[in-house]
Amino acid sequence: MIILKSEREIQYMREAGRVVARTRAELEKAVAPGVRTRDLDQMAEEFIRKQGATPAFLGYNDFPATLCTSINGQVVHGIPGPRRLQEGDILSIDFGAILNGYYSDAAATFPVGKVTEEAARLMRVTRESLERAIQAAYPGNHLSDISFNIQSWVEEHGFSVVRDYVGHGIGRKLHEDPQVPNFGPPGMGPVLRPGMTLAIEPMVNQGGYQVHTEKDNWTVVTDDGSLSAHFEETLAIVEDGPEILTKL
Ligand code: MG
Repeated sequence: MIILKSEREIQYMREAGRVVARTRAELEKAVAPGVRTRDLDQMAEEFIRKQGATPAFLGYNDFPATLCTSINGQVVHGIPGPRRLQEGDILSIDFGAILNGYYSDAAATFPVGKVTEEAARLMRVTRESLERAIQAAYPGNHLSDISFNIQSWVEEHGFSVVRDYVGHGIGRKLHEDPQVPNFGPPGMGPVLRPGMTLAIEPMVNQGGYQVHTEKDNWTVVTDDGSLSAHFEETLAIVEDGPEILTKL
């Protein structure tokens, strides 16, 4: 069941979204060669708590950290640790915050120093696929118009969309209905309505779309070892169209 939010609830979610957006901006400044993913995690946790919010992923299904940090061929759910970022890596950071009882969730892939042109193109196309997805999030459209906009853009550019993980509704829970796949034909699924709040999150691979989970039971990697990028925003559908909540 899709839970529609009132204007007051959307206001709470805007505040949670701002915490996430501010934290993401701090992380972006901190990503550099030599930095450990564990350092980023600690910084993010402190910064979220300083704003009166709670990290959303820490302890969720026993996940041990504030951030998911996924490097290069890691797709999602990487666990921060002692690994030091190297020049040329790409780092996907996914995290959320809870404020006033409401969740917000976002992700972005950052270049570490100077990256290859192909890595930069992968990140750009993934970011653009999210922007196109958001442009489909208008009242009266169907849910899968979002999905279609992502897949068509990604495949036009020769990349592939991960199938095993999808976006989701969000609100008082991190994961609510509906699921928001990043692939599929247009014009299917529920009609979008004001009050829906969605986390849209394309995960895009340079090579094939197949992925698997590593022995730590968390880290998802591409089967072919190719690079992967991930961008996510939490948004509300209001009368006028989509409003990104994870913004400054
Ligand atoms: Mg999410």
